Order: sequence, then C-alpha cells, then structure tokens
Amino acid sequence: MQSELSFHNIVDGISALVAILTPDGAVEFVNQQVLDYFGKTLEELKRWASTDAVHPDDLPNVVDVFKRSLESGRPYDIELRQRGADAVYRWFHVQGLPVRAPDGRILRWCVLQTDIEERKQAEEALQESERELHQIVEMMPAHVARMTADGSLQYVNQRALDYLGLEFGEIGIHSAHPDDQYPRIMRWRRALKTGEPWEDTVRVRRADGEYRWFYQRNEPLLDRDGHVVCWYSVAFDIHDSKEMEEVLRNTRRKLSAAMQVATVAELSASIAHEINQPLASVVTNAHAAETWLTHDPPNLERARTTLERIIRDGHSAAEVVQRIRALFKQSAPVKSSLDINEIVDQVLHVLSGELRDNHIIVETELERDLPMIDADQVQIQQTLINLVHNAIEAMARVSNRPKSLLLSSRREGDDLLVQVRDDGSGIDDPALVFEPFFTTKESGMGMGLAICRSIIEAHGGRVWAAANGDGGTTFCFTLPLTSSAYSQSPS
Ligand code: ADP
Repeated sequence: MQSELSFHNIVDGISALVAILTPDGAVEFVNQQVLDYFGKTLEELKRWASTDAVHPDDLPNVVDVFKRSLESGRPYDIELRQRGADAVYRWFHVQGLPVRAPDGRILRWCVLQTDIEERKQAEEALQESERELHQIVEMMPAHVARMTADGSLQYVNQRALDYLGLEFGEIGIHSAHPDDQYPRIMRWRRALKTGEPWEDTVRVRRADGEYRWFYQRNEPLLDRDGHVVCWYSVAFDIHDSKEMEEVLRNTRRKLSAAMQVATVAELSASIAHEINQPLASVVTNAHAAETWLTHDPPNLERARTTLERIIRDGHSAAEVVQRIRALFKQSAPVKSSLDINEIVDQVLHVLSGELRDNHIIVETELERDLPMIDADQVQIQQTLINLVHNAIEAMARVSNRPKSLLLSSRREGDDLLVQVRDDGSGIDDPALVFEPFFTTKESGMGMGLAICRSIIEAHGGRVWAAANGDGGTTFCFTLPLTSSAYSQSPS
C-alpha cells in the first residue's frame, strides 16, 4: 500500500500523461494528468476505444497497432489525436512499453503520452509553406532547376518537363541545339571551376521538335565558407522577342546596305559628271590647239589661248578630285587624355548583346597601370568597335568549338599595342583587307578597315593584321605614348 501510494505520487508528478495497463491491455491506472486532460473518469477511460477519446480518423490504425503489440509483446510507438476535456483534439506521441517479470512474462504495460501539438503545428506550417513554395515554382512562367555542386541535375519543375516532353532521367545536353551544346558545356565547366553565376542564351528543343530561344541564369548557393552547395537555374522563353530583334536587325542591315549602294552609285555619278565636264573640254581644246598648230603658218596666238584653256580645265578637274578627297577625309582628332583599358571595357559593353547572342567567349589581357594616351576617344572607340565587329562576323560560321575573342593591351617601348585576336575564318592577304572597298561580305562596304587605318595613322600609330598560326586573325594597332610622336597631320 505504502509503495503503491508513493508510485501514484511519482507518476502524478510527471508532466506527461501516464497509464498502466494489464497484460491484456485493459486500463488499470492513469495519472492525474490523464484524468485532467480527458475530463473523464477512470471507468470511462477504460472504454477508450468506444468513446471519442481518440480522433475517429486515427482510431482504426491505433486499435490495429495496439492489438498487434499486445499479441507480439513488442513496444508500440504511435502519433494520434486525442480529444481533451475542452472538446479539442491535440496531437500526442504515445509509447507503450511492456514491463516484464524476471521470467519474461509481461506484468503490465506502461503507456507514456506526450503532447506534441506544437511540434505538429510547426511541422504542418512548414509543410504548408513548402507546398506554397512548390506551387509558386510550378506556376512560374519559367523553367526552374536545381543542380548539385558538381552540376548533376537534382530537380526540374513540371513546366520544364512538359516543355521538353521528357522524363526527369532523360534530360541532358542533347535538348540544346547542336550548335549551342559545345559553348554551353564550356560555360558550365568554367562555372563549376570558378563557382561564379553565369548566363546563357540557348535554343532548347520542345516536345514537338521545334527549337526555341531561352535566356537562362544560373546562380550558385554558397555555404558560409563560400563553397557551392548547389546551383539554381531559371530559364525564360525569349523566342518571340529574339525573332523580332532578328527581323529588326536584318531590316536595318538591308536598309544600311541599300543606302550604301545608293550612296556609292550617287557619288560615282556625280564624280563622273564633275570630272567629265573639264575632261571633255580638255579634249575639245586639245583638238582645237592641234588645228591651230597645223595651219600654215601655225596660229600660235590662238594655239596658246587654247592651251591655257586646257591648263585651266586640268586644274579644275584636279580641284574636283581634291574636293572629293576632302569629303572623305577624317575630321581632325579631338585629343584628350585616355585610358585605353577603359575604352576596351566601353566597347565590350556596347557590343555585349551581340557578343552574347553569338556565343562568343571574351577574354581580356589588359596590362595594368598603362600610361594615358593622348587621342580622340570617339575615333579610337570606332576603330575598336570595327575590329571587334569584324571578328564577330569572322566567327559567325564556327559551331564545332568555342568562339573566343581576346582583347589585349600592353606597352611596347614608346608605343601602346592593342590586339584583337579571333579564331574565325582567317584572312588570305593581310594587306589587302585595308584597301578601300575590299570586302568579302555580301552586304559589306569594305570601308571599315580603311577608315581604321586612316584614324590610327592620323594618331601617329600603325595598324596591321596577322594570321594566327592555328587559324583566325589578330588585328593590331599601336598608338604613341608620347605626344611628340603625335605630329603627323591627319589626312
Ligand atoms: P566590311 O566589313 O564592310 O567588309 P572591312 O574594311 O571592315 O569592311 O573589312 C574588309 C574585309 O576584310 C572583310 O570583308 C573581310 O573579308 C576581311 N576581314 C576583316 N576583318 C576580318 C577578320 N577578323 N577575320 C577575317 N577576315 C576579316
């Protein structure tokens, strides 16, 4: 009696709900917490399975687990909802443990019930927010993916799977357009090495076989030490705007080609007209002079007057030519102190869209702390834009390897040397390309390099092209570092 009393005292003092059952599962004793929680008497609790103490949705499973445990004599462990005195169900973690005699016989079952309502609510809130997040990711008008730190695909949203028409395990680089696969692999490799975010414009094959343009952005998730935990990627369909851009660009190109042709035609007509006039007059006067000289006696006075007219017309033809030269002459450079590396950055910025669209990997090797140069900013920019533009066009047909462009700057004695190296189609004759009107392009004008040469020479520098050993071309130009070298007048 004494020991029973103290047992009750101890069990009532525990903040959990405790029940003691007979070996066949009948409730024998419950502590005060159980009586308080359920608001029922011990007698009522003995019939727990036929009352509303356990939530009706949980009851069949609870009864099943309980029965199997009694039969096997093994402990049970279950989570269920139990109705309190206030008619509210709360979640409990219930553990039933057999208490055995030394011979192994089960003497009693000790049942410990812990209130886990708060934990359950927190779990549910977490699940709810996860569900919501998942829904957002699935509803987003974009393809979303997650990759491991080494780039293996872990997850893609349903929208991406529907677009590709593939199962998760079938996704791979082959979904990208064959021309885009190699540059894409190279970009991925580089990102895996550097752990830096990267972006791509890539054609992706839809379930029906059509390729559409996507813009994709990949961001690494870093841990506290800066190590990549995983990669997240979002890709948007930009096909329609990309096509529109292409149509616009084509129209602009055609327009400018048409305008160039029109200008050249117009110009040649007016040059021909202006020069033909004095030339016709020269021929007529020459005939006249011949006639005066063949007279007997020769009329020297008239012949001299006619020859003077020939000289006058010759001068006026020369003037026409001079006027035309003046028309084409570059305006004199407006000098200011410039940082060539800044100009390189500006040019790459201006052409960034075109470089990205053409999948060109740009590298720079710019010597630090170069002296400033005295030059015309717009003209030097124009020269570099021209060279980079030509390089992009020279690499247009490359598809089986990365297209790489290297821009470098360094000091060479008293000069600054700038180089634009591509691995494009290459050139046959490095001198010929600088000739005015030399072009191999359908819509080319052949004036770009001629203008570059006149700009650089007007700055007292030199420009040339050299074939790279392994294909491609390097265009180089120098600019004098000292202003005294800048003596040559622009022509
Ligand atoms: P356009 O670009 O209008 O043809 P340019 O004077 O800029 O005029 O170029 C003349 C020609 O030089 C081009 O048509 C091309 O054949 C050749 N060329 C220029 N840059 C390169 C290059 N980076 N690689 C190969 N060929 C080039």
